[in-house]
Amino acid sequence: MIKAIYPGSFDPITLGHIDIIRRIQPLFGELEVVVANSQRKHYMFSLAEREQLIRDNLPAGVKISMCDGLITDYAEKIGAQVIVRGLRAISDFEYEFAMFNMNKKLKEKIETMIVFTRPEYSFVASHMVKEVAHHDGDLSNLVPPNVAQALRKHIQSKKGT
Ligand code: ADP
Repeated sequence: MIKAIYPGSFDPITLGHIDIIRRIQPLFGELEVVVANSQRKHYMFSLAEREQLIRDNLPAGVKISMCDGLITDYAEKIGAQVIVRGLRAISDFEYEFAMFNMNKKLKEKIETMIVFTRPEYSFVASHMVKEVAHHDGDLSNLVPPNVAQALRKHIQSKKGT
């Protein structure tokens, strides 16, 4: 059985991420979405919030966990052979290629699988979604309803302070 992980910041999860999760789930015996939590990154949503927003949109059978260390160490620890990453455009390529090479150096046995985004989600990025939300734009084609609600709530609370 091949076990895969789909790691990311998911700050917040978007329809693009969800599309990838749905498409890759049938390819693996087990799939785990891994929420990365780096001390050096500044997130809009806390780890618990990001996890909850994902959990509400996960297809049955997909697991969720968090990782605050090296993703390759985590993959090895849980016995995952594959790391899945999404690719939207050429602009993602350099970063994903560098990450693949580093991960390969760290753990030779772990493979990276790149899945292309559907065209309708190729412009959807978490940071852009936050920008749209800041300007009160339409989020309905970008994120699921619970995420749109959380974004609005978060932005309202910041404006109120
Ligand atoms: P990271 O900080 O690790 O890049 P993200 O949450 O931004 O975390 O992305 C996690 C993974 O999902 C990455 O492989 C990224 O390229 C991919 N991804 C991001 N947005 C989309 C999208 N709209 N469609 C498909 N894949 C995406």
